[in-house]
Amino acid sequence: MKKLSHGCTLDCFDCCKFNIYVDKNEIVKIQGDKEHPYTKGFICKKGLAHLDRLKHRERIYSPMIKINGEWKEISFDEALNIMAEKLKYYKNKYSSKSILYYEQYGNGALLKSMGDLFFNFYGGVSKSKGGPCWSAGIKAQTYNFGDVKSHSLDDMINSKTIFVWGKNPAFTTIHTMQSIKKAKSNGSKIVVIDPIYTKTAEMADKYVRIKPNGDGALALAMGKIIIDKNLYDRNYIKSYVNGFEDYKNYVESLNLEDLIEICGVSKDDIEELVMLYTNKYSTILLGYGMQKYKNGGNTISLVDILGAITGQIGFAGGGINYANKVYPNVIDSDPYNSEKSCENRFFYVSHMADFINDSLLGRDFYDDDKVYLKDASLDKESKKYNTPIKMSVITKSNLLNQLANLNNLNDAFSKVEFKVCFDMFMTDTAKECDLFIPTTSTLESEDLIYSSMTSPYIIYNEKAVEPKNELMDEYEFFKELAKRVKLDNYPYVDKQEYLSKVIEPLKKFNDEVDIEYLKNNYFTIHKPVAWEDKKFKTASGKFEIFFNESLYLENNNKKDNKLSFKLLTCHSRDTLSSQHMMDEDGISVAYINEEMARKLSFNEEKIVTLRNHNGEIRVNLKIDNSVADFIVLMYVGWWTKHGNPNYLTDSGVSDIGGQVTYNETEVEIDFAV
Ligand code: SF4
Repeated sequence: MKKLSHGCTLDCFDCCKFNIYVDKNEIVKIQGDKEHPYTKGFICKKGLAHLDRLKHRERIYSPMIKINGEWKEISFDEALNIMAEKLKYYKNKYSSKSILYYEQYGNGALLKSMGDLFFNFYGGVSKSKGGPCWSAGIKAQTYNFGDVKSHSLDDMINSKTIFVWGKNPAFTTIHTMQSIKKAKSNGSKIVVIDPIYTKTAEMADKYVRIKPNGDGALALAMGKIIIDKNLYDRNYIKSYVNGFEDYKNYVESLNLEDLIEICGVSKDDIEELVMLYTNKYSTILLGYGMQKYKNGGNTISLVDILGAITGQIGFAGGGINYANKVYPNVIDSDPYNSEKSCENRFFYVSHMADFINDSLLGRDFYDDDKVYLKDASLDKESKKYNTPIKMSVITKSNLLNQLANLNNLNDAFSKVEFKVCFDMFMTDTAKECDLFIPTTSTLESEDLIYSSMTSPYIIYNEKAVEPKNELMDEYEFFKELAKRVKLDNYPYVDKQEYLSKVIEPLKKFNDEVDIEYLKNNYFTIHKPVAWEDKKFKTASGKFEIFFNESLYLENNNKKDNKLSFKLLTCHSRDTLSSQHMMDEDGISVAYINEEMARKLSFNEEKIVTLRNHNGEIRVNLKIDNSVADFIVLMYVGWWTKHGNPNYLTDSGVSDIGGQVTYNETEVEIDFAV
């Protein structure tokens, strides 16, 4: 029996390392690597499910073309020819920008992204900016710090208090949870701030229930008290922080009672949070839900500022941990300079439907950075391409499940003449396409993976088994497609050569590093304390304070409509986005608390309709007192057949970073049968 090394390619904080035991091209078991410094031997059931998905009865092994609404199996050769002909035709007739290429992180491995490289050599296409996951927070931290870094999980042992703010690691990052538990048993206090009494909150020393989108107000209230009580660190601010006086003036102008009303946290609780936080050193772990609002970037910055003004950035036990971009700026992710060969145009993910519709009607306008302007006025005639979207290619994404306002998006997507989807299964997105390209499982591909969220280790994935049926993975498919489209500069090299170029810059950290080294060693370049040298990567070299007063006030002035509920869509323990939900029976489940149920004269589980201006879905409504008042909680991942909350979600764009504003969604509950 062979033991092979592999890492989990799901888009998860943990990027676990496991060993695969293989006998005669059959995987006997997958087991968390006990020796790995991050994984420490345990992985979650989603990681173990790579094996179920590999052998799943509904796995598709043959390319298929849709003819008169019916799928027909074809060979890879035919699929390549069809796709190559379409790409040549649309490029000649409308330009390469008539292709919409969309990818996400359904698989986080490097070679699964060859579509991106292909379309750069093709000449550039229409592609998205911003995203459904974390982009407002990434932009905010980049403004504040100049980059996005986190402390190692082990450093939490040095924290007097650990603030878990809008994050539920018990469900979403099990190794973070282990480190929190370890720090707690070593004497650290755990504070959980969340509108939901989560599984993580159950083990906290203090749980603070906050109103949805009250996080910015809470951060401002804490900042105001810190300044009123002279708890800020003058020396640190003088040396390392820009913009403090403006911030001080701003928070001093705010009324604490107003902030308390917006965040829903009592004055006593806020004072206790300040007392705990300013007892150095304390750390904050930030979740991604709190930035899925119109003011999402502002919110993350307001929390970052707390760390800066109290002098807790760059010290063991401190830090504001949002994400951990260890490798993107170090490795060579474009070793053949494909970006020099292209000119793309862009649209925000949230605007995809409008972008497609407007491009087809010739009503699409663009800013100087070639980004589509939704609701642009017609006097911007000069910034036009006159290129309709005629073809779309989707890899690593179930976008007609995961993006917001799906009725709108489905309608626009259906107007695109020719649509191609790469996947292992007939997803909600694949069903709506014209050509289906079956992909390999991670277990059938060699590759390289790393996470930019928490785990700092880079992992080489050995190919564990040959696919049962003949399959081309994305690397080979796009290489062959490039030949047929006649892309001269495309790198027609093998995978090892390509990956070796990608990791070449790591040699400056350790000159032994190559594929073989990564296969046999645990490798990271991460330092346990972020910004220890206090040399921030901003233009000034200092932490840059920024806040958006007007945006915040606009949010404050929103009228509270007591008839409607805020729909929060959170990540569950059991599925990574939509990937593990296809076998689920029945209809989707939503939760409200007992008090809300009493107001609605509802006393047991019932099938109801959730409705708003975007659409409606049927759900099984249950009572759960972990949910705060006026919230309907649903978990992410339900398919269309179950009742997907994304038929209701808001497709706005955050203040910065182009984040989809899912959590702005309001719904009404209709009990009529
Ligand atoms: S989903 Fe996350 S926690 Fe689970 S095995 Fe994969 S990387 Fe590890």
